[in-house]
Amino acid sequence: MVYTIEQVKALVREFADFPSKGILFRDIFPIFREPAAVECLVSHFVERIQATGKQVDVVVGLDARGFLLGPLIALRLGVAFAPVRKGGKLPGSVARVTYQKEYGEDVFEMQADAVTKGQQVVIVDDLLATGGSCGAAEELVHKLEGVVVLDAFIIRLAGLEGDKRLRAPVYALMEC
Ligand code: AMP
Repeated sequence: MVYTIEQVKALVREFADFPSKGILFRDIFPIFREPAAVECLVSHFVERIQATGKQVDVVVGLDARGFLLGPLIALRLGVAFAPVRKGGKLPGSVARVTYQKEYGEDVFEMQADAVTKGQQVVIVDDLLATGGSCGAAEELVHKLEGVVVLDAFIIRLAGLEGDKRLRAPVYALMEC
């Protein structure tokens, strides 16, 4: 089967009250059960990134579901992939930022040599909600003297206006 991007979007499911009461969780894993859907999704993102006209040196994926799509996009673009992880998970010298979550603080880290001065970066995650995570990832890339040229998501939660917290342009495949 060959998937259209509309058919890929239709694979995203919702789970009420997960992981806690009041949260409507958007589940992208069904896409990854269908190789042809993944093929369509990756091609779509690669086209959108190429359409910016920007040179891209590194695709940065956010812990954890940004690790699904990020390496596939990087492979297709023929560029590096680098992870942003929760604090304490990456060995060696790291850049670190503390950011505000709905309840309390969290820490994101990147390996200090994952992005070098002047490199152009696309940040990838499954979903943009408040923008706290992606904003912290942008800060990490800036600390390493990289330049974020695009923040790319499968889903953007429209009501939360997360893109207002971000410095780079935002692309989302679907709005919920
Ligand atoms: P935020 O930092 O508020 O933009 O939240 C985005 C991060 O939290 C992403 O890494 C998402 O994977 C996760 N997330 C937040 N809200 C949801 C949701 N409703 N469904 C699935 N993941 C979510």
